[in-house]
Amino acid sequence: MNRKDACSRLSVCTGDITRLEVDAVVNAANNSLLGGGGVDGAIHKAAGPELLDLARTLGGCPTGEARVTPGFRLPARWIIHTVGPVWRGGTQGEPELLRRAYRNSLQLALDKGVRTIAFPAISTGVYGYPKVPAARIAVESALEVAAQFERILFCTYSERDEAVYRQVIEELCT
Ligand code: ADP
Repeated sequence: MNRKDACSRLSVCTGDITRLEVDAVVNAANNSLLGGGGVDGAIHKAAGPELLDLARTLGGCPTGEARVTPGFRLPARWIIHTVGPVWRGGTQGEPELLRRAYRNSLQLALDKGVRTIAFPAISTGVYGYPKVPAARIAVESALEVAAQFERILFCTYSERDEAVYRQVIEELCT
């Protein structure tokens, strides 16, 4: 698939990722997988307590890896929990870890037969990763495998963040 066709499978929107009717939503989780603030808290709240019950059996998740659970009460069939890096200035392997979080999430999705998937802006909240380089890694990783998905959605939580993704897609797709 050429770059233009791959790009046509990417979308950006602003809103609550827990409401999206996609095959899988990605959770920006922490190493415990037991829930937290931000998007993680929203996903646990919306999915219901069964998610925490199952997460307790998973034994956590190292940074850069991903784990899958059912979506429980979400419209999405699956939740892919991944752990992005905490930003420590950029010299502690953060870009590679963030790339691994995206790639491992996408691979796990493919293993489950997922055709439509939505990502939040992993690591860019409490974990402090700068938004533009984070969006570049997100979009680059998505383009690598876009041919195998119907749609890869970047679900931001503000119009400003949405503009960041639009800018990065423009940059990488034209
Ligand atoms: P991290 O700890 O990986 O930084 P956060 O949850 O703090 O994760 O933030 C990641 C991104 O998710 C931030 O850009 C934040 O604005 C966004 N976010 C928070 N709640 C939601 C939600 N319900 N849907 C989509 N994105 C959200």
